[in-house]
Amino acid sequence: MSRSEIPVASSIASVRDFIAAARQSGKSIGLVPTMGALHEGHAELVRRCRSECSFVVVSIFVNPTQFGPKEDLAKYPRSPEADHELCQANGADVIFEPSPAEMYPTGGLATFVEVPGLSDVLEGASRPGHFRGVATVVAKLLNIVQPDVAAFGRKDYQQLCVIRRMVTDLDLPVRILPVPIVRDADGLAMSSRNRYLNAQERVAATVLSKSLHRAVAAARGGERSADRIRQILAETIESEHMAKLDYAEVADSETLTPLDQLPTTSGAVALIAARVGPARLIDNVVLPA
Ligand code: AMP
Repeated sequence: MSRSEIPVASSIASVRDFIAAARQSGKSIGLVPTMGALHEGHAELVRRCRSECSFVVVSIFVNPTQFGPKEDLAKYPRSPEADHELCQANGADVIFEPSPAEMYPTGGLATFVEVPGLSDVLEGASRPGHFRGVATVVAKLLNIVQPDVAAFGRKDYQQLCVIRRMVTDLDLPVRILPVPIVRDADGLAMSSRNRYLNAQERVAATVLSKSLHRAVAAARGGERSADRIRQILAETIESEHMAKLDYAEVADSETLTPLDQLPTTSGAVALIAARVGPARLIDNVVLPA
């Protein structure tokens, strides 16, 4: 039995009943898709969504199709009781927590959503098939819930780009609400995967945000060479012997195309991924023009 009182729907039919009732009483619907193991970053998504909608659905689903065969699906942290409490405390109205079989009936899907280009670089290059899994499950969640607004964190910057493009291309009737990255006091971006870190690794992991900090300082100081910024990112990460750099990129903030020079008007984003102990961590920052 859950200690919290928030309703938890495990079937598509049942969450749709909750949403239909909310619609009937004139409420606007918000969706916050998550994989559980919720933290203050997720809480912020729920609060922002709730401030724009009168009824918020939080989905908790560790989506198997976005994990590669050698990734951490089986080990992915799960904390259902605490998750339900966090959702309730931050103003969610119902949790949608389906089983894999509810989302992927026997035989799996024959239909997928792909966003080529945006999905093939950075995280997509390191994790083939990841964004096909993400786009497809988010499309399913949007169809199940049919929200007015869906909240996504800037923490997963590339995911936000992929989802926005999917929504535009497929004319999905939803407004995407981007939410700034929530960080711990020492700068580390909050992530469910931070739970994998021991005390030493946790300290070492702050090198990711430190590298982004240096990149911003360089851009503010007038550095326009994207290569130089990439070098600053890579050198900072490599200065921490417990961190192993996967990528350090400076890209156009919409298309994610690698840049030569920081543009003077439109946005550029610095994106990094590194392994620290057992955790693969990502972070990013929009660079000042
Ligand atoms: P996840 O459960 O990791 O799949 O994340 C669910 C949603 O929460 C995604 O839209 C993430 O971008 C967002 N999110 C996760 N961590 C943070 C954070 N530290 N700050 C802002 N949003 C976050």
